[in-house]
Amino acid sequence: MPLEPPRTLSPSKVAAFTDCALAFRFATIDRLPEPPSPWATKGTLVHAALERLFVLAPAERTIAAALTCLDAAFTELRTDPEYVDLRLGPDDEATFLDDAERLVRNYFRLEDPTTVVPIGIELMLDADLGGVRVRGIIDRLELDENGDLVVVDYKTGRAPNVRYENGRLDGVQFYSLLCERNFGRRPARVKLLYLGDPLEISTTPSEQSSRAIERKVGAIWTAIERACDKDDFRPKPSRLCEYCAFRMYCPAFGGEIAEGARVAATLHSAGTLDDLAPVAIAD
Ligand code: SF4
Repeated sequence: MPLEPPRTLSPSKVAAFTDCALAFRFATIDRLPEPPSPWATKGTLVHAALERLFVLAPAERTIAAALTCLDAAFTELRTDPEYVDLRLGPDDEATFLDDAERLVRNYFRLEDPTTVVPIGIELMLDADLGGVRVRGIIDRLELDENGDLVVVDYKTGRAPNVRYENGRLDGVQFYSLLCERNFGRRPARVKLLYLGDPLEISTTPSEQSSRAIERKVGAIWTAIERACDKDDFRPKPSRLCEYCAFRMYCPAFGGEIAEGARVAATLHSAGTLDDLAPVAIAD
């Protein structure tokens, strides 16, 4: 039976479908819940701390202020199911917070926030790209010294091997295209700030890169529609399987796709999942 395609695409959905079509199906189409992971939740915390930092006046954006922002963000997060469901004991919680602090401190090794001119933080943009509704949340949109737009994306995981850099830049190129469609201006630069290493990877968007991203989004959308139409989402085993919440339903691990779909249908009909958004594939 044909499946209902998602209503929108985002950089994370594009990456998820490319990584493994079957995991994408379970997360985005069946909307099976995934348990939170310490890595993703730490990312949420660090992003929230940096969001708070940029609400401050430029001269106030010091390391001490950033650590205060981290404390405030953690106070808010610690009662959220995304954190509570991790069920960290005191030692693991201390390690979690130490690591979040290390990432925030590393941010200051990449740039001086007192010189940044933000014009949007956690900015949600959407656009129609060739009939596909695409949306994304830009961590930070700023103006450079020439008044040109710069898109900034924070990454709390490890920087990719050079061979995979282009793939990771696709996400920010996607944001660049959203800016172009919404503001009529192509950003002068897009940059990824890898806080773990710390390392900056940046590139200059061009007419060519915009067209390439648009073509890629169109091709992925066609592939998703085709997979939905034929109910044909295949597993793509890789090192990501180690962290996959759907292994029990995956044929590559002896599971059955139909069982995952049945579980999702049961949870949806009981109303259990109605308010749940997929954890791993947010916009
Ligand atoms: S276990 Fe691996 S192959 Fe199977 S759905 Fe998850 S990521 Fe895909």
